[in-house]
Amino acid sequence: MPTAPAGDPWRSHTVRIEGVVEEIPGVRTYDLRFLDEAVARSYRFAPGQFNMLHLPGIGEAAISISSDPADPAELAHTVRAVGNVTDALARMQAGDTLMLRGPFGRPWPLADRTGRDVVLVAGGLGLASQRAAIRELARQRSQYASVTVLHGAKEPSGLLYTREYRAWKEAGLVVRSIVDGLPASGAAAGSPGWDGRVGLVTDLLAELTILSERSTVLCCGPDPMMTAVARTAIRQGVAAEEIFLSLERNMACAVRHCGLCQFGPVFVCQDGPVFPFAAIERFLAVAHL
Ligand SMILES: Cc1cc2nc3c(=O)[nH]c(=O)nc-3n(C[C@H](O)[C@H](O)[C@H](O)COP(=O)(O)OP(=O)(O)OC[C@H]3O[C@@H](n4cnc5c(N)ncnc54)[C@H](O)[C@@H]3O)c2cc1C
Repeated sequence: MPTAPAGDPWRSHTVRIEGVVEEIPGVRTYDLRFLDEAVARSYRFAPGQFNMLHLPGIGEAAISISSDPADPAELAHTVRAVGNVTDALARMQAGDTLMLRGPFGRPWPLADRTGRDVVLVAGGLGLASQRAAIRELARQRSQYASVTVLHGAKEPSGLLYTREYRAWKEAGLVVRSIVDGLPASGAAAGSPGWDGRVGLVTDLLAELTILSERSTVLCCGPDPMMTAVARTAIRQGVAAEEIFLSLERNMACAVRHCGLCQFGPVFVCQDGPVFPFAAIERFLAVAHL
């Protein structure tokens, strides 16, 4: 899969918002559809790739594609409102239009991992970059020895896509979630009756008995969490080359020109966002890189 669209990577296409789902407070999933039927027919992406969402006059933001690659004409993006573009997006509704260019970046390495135990580990909104992979793995479940999804969030109201857990489990995936803690008033914060695990997502990982040299770990979340996940997986027998992290860095062009997302000798936009842990371990140890 190419890491930038064929043709002009600067060319934005108009998309219409078909639907908006409020996932958790401050986070919405936007279902987008190309207005140009020819673009809709030719557009393809792989799980882990991202698009640049462009609001004319405001700016662009890199956002992972969170829908099923088997249906590339229906593009979902799950977005937390944190700044210029994402705040403006949060004020938009079904029927509104915006611009999109992509897809960009190296995807999760799913195709070469058939027969293996695949473990996806997500912290908070990191699950958005894995949802496309989860949908693909669920469809192709029989090709993998096992598929496990571990999701951690600060508190229960931060767990994403919980309404989809049932379908994932019915497809044969193991799904476990854990929260760092409970808010002072669970009911007030929208998390009454949480009887699940409290702790870190690395606790769930350390308990997995399937981890071995036959496992592949795919991880997305804050850098310190990803480093902790990688170290835990290595202690459980997973090879550093079989641990893949999706990095998030500020970026503007997505085509290796602006330099904003440079990370040591590589560019997150094109060399990543998905990297083998073994390739970036020493750069992750450098503060503020
Ligand atoms: C590959 C990739 C995938 C991503 N996927 C998603 C996703 O699925 N969902 C999602 O919600 N987000 C995702 N992000 C993050 C998203 O791109 C950023 O949050 C983006 O900055 C939002 O744009 P904005 O204009 O709304 O916010 P901005 O106005 O850019 O502000 C966002 C925050 O970043 C700070 N900031 C902005 N520019 C800089 C800079 N140059 N240096 C330091 N700090 C800066 C701001 O102060 C603010 O705190 C992804 C990022 C990458 C790289």
